[in-house]
Amino acid sequence: MSRPVLGGRVYLVGAGPGDPELLTLRAAAVLAAAGAVFHDRLVSEEVLGLAPAGAELVDVGHRAGEAAPDLDLVAAQMAARARRGMVVARLKGGDPFVFGRGFEELQRLRGLGVPCEVVPGLSSALAAPAAAGIPVTHRGLAASVAIVAGHPGREADWSRLRADTLVVLMGASHLEGLSRGMVGAGWDPATPAALVAAATTARQRQVGAPLDRIARAADAAQVGPPAVLVVGAAAALPTPSPAGGRGR
Ligand code: SAH
Repeated sequence: MSRPVLGGRVYLVGAGPGDPELLTLRAAAVLAAAGAVFHDRLVSEEVLGLAPAGAELVDVGHRAGEAAPDLDLVAAQMAARARRGMVVARLKGGDPFVFGRGFEELQRLRGLGVPCEVVPGLSSALAAPAAAGIPVTHRGLAASVAIVAGHPGREADWSRLRADTLVVLMGASHLEGLSRGMVGAGWDPATPAALVAAATTARQRQVGAPLDRIARAADAAQVGPPAVLVVGAAAALPTPSPAGGRGR
């Protein structure tokens, strides 16, 4: 049924938002054939459990505040294994090219002459709102959606950004500053907002409030990272619940 998974290459694989059932068939096939799995922190245990028992698991993730991994070193380690004929899976949360620095790793691997395949994944930017019942587009309400970084120092220019729905990644640990920055740049403080945490896992939680109150609401409900912030009229659509669990 599926194309063969070849040794001697690195597969840059999107691992989806968390639920192993949301892996693509291609991702599952690569994992099942992997001799080595290099993964980020956000890749779930259940997903890693799909690798063969003897596969080497290498955690190359870092927590917020820690130094980022040395991408040259990671690429060299993967290249060495691929040259020995291994199937190397480089697993990244969500989609490898959405804020995952996946393309930087691909460039390094190509520079080292290693054959690579990119396996797209389901990004949390779309999967988290959907899992929480929030449509990022909705006829008559939201015709555009922007995916932006909320990480301090990498924040979007809020005054220039115009979209009906904003999905902010990497912003959950400093919501207060984030929402203040947006309101300061002209966003209506009453704009509906929702924070969706650990989407598609057993720990999924969500909380909704107007933009100027979302930080306090998230604090009170203890909804925190990893989470996406959804801002826009669509964020008010799901049945309100102060800190809803996973609706299944
Ligand atoms: N490449 C990833 C994003 C990496 S940046 C993707 O496409 O999903 C990491 C950010 O992703 C986190 O700060 C958080 O905002 C978001 N994120 C990842 N997994 C998540 C999940 N299960 N639920 C909610 N947000 C998640």
